[in-house]
Amino acid sequence: MSSYQLRRSQQDKQIEDSPAVDYIRSLNSFQGNTRGFGQSNSERLAMVQQAQQNRAQSQEQGHDHSHEHEVENVERAERAESTTPLDSYLPLAAGANGQGVVLLQNKLNALGAGLVTDGEYGGKTTSAVQIFQVANGLPKTGSIDKGTAIALYSSQAKRLEQAQLEGVPGQYLGEYEAYRGGQNIGSIDVVELNGKKVAAKTARAWKTLRDAAAADGVFLILNSGFRTMSEQRHLYSKYGSPRAAYPGHSNHQHGQALDIDASNPQHKDWLFKNAPSFGWRNTVSFEPWHWEYFGN
Ligand SMILES: [Zn+2]
Repeated sequence: MSSYQLRRSQQDKQIEDSPAVDYIRSLNSFQGNTRGFGQSNSERLAMVQQAQQNRAQSQEQGHDHSHEHEVENVERAERAESTTPLDSYLPLAAGANGQGVVLLQNKLNALGAGLVTDGEYGGKTTSAVQIFQVANGLPKTGSIDKGTAIALYSSQAKRLEQAQLEGVPGQYLGEYEAYRGGQNIGSIDVVELNGKKVAAKTARAWKTLRDAAAADGVFLILNSGFRTMSEQRHLYSKYGSPRAAYPGHSNHQHGQALDIDASNPQHKDWLFKNAPSFGWRNTVSFEPWHWEYFGN
């Protein structure tokens, strides 16, 4: 074996054994990752494998020039896969701060997040990371592991406004704290639908109701959906009681309630006649527009 061939076969061994190739393989075997990024990773894995195959073939055929070229391609593909500017800061999670978080916030902003780049990994950064993960078919952890870092710096990264939960209409806005009777009842997934914030579960039911009404020629209008604690605080400070409920006590804070325009008598009649069979109840007798979804 010539020294050139020896050097080549050592390089090949390194490529085969490289953590990058192992990492790409592990990403592809990860089941939760078959949507979005799973696809592009498997495409890139295929690219690396194809390049390795081409190299093996050209070696057999003695085409040393194309061999050289393919080695470069493999190395470039692997470098692109395995290295991100965040690597020395990983893992990054809520509570972290400093330069790594500033880098992350800038990257998220370039993808549509609109964060203050204060270097503090707080609730808003966590939420932006979750939205990014949903947009890119990654597990919604809210923290940055190697897989999310690679996705962030990929040329195929999907922007935050592209985030959609599977089977839920509307754009995914993240998790918000829900309240019932003044008690925090945990965080819920919220989407934007017809220009309003709506709890994910209610969004599905609203779309069903809206479409059923439309099929009868009744085009329902959504006036209000889920309210965040800060939105309810704002309303309360603006209108006070009794027009606005005390923050934490509004029945628009638990996620089940929608205000559906009922000023048109045709709409109101349709709702009272049909909405109950879709799992909706009018829970405030003097507010014909206030409907809550309880399921069937
Ligand atoms: Zn209401």
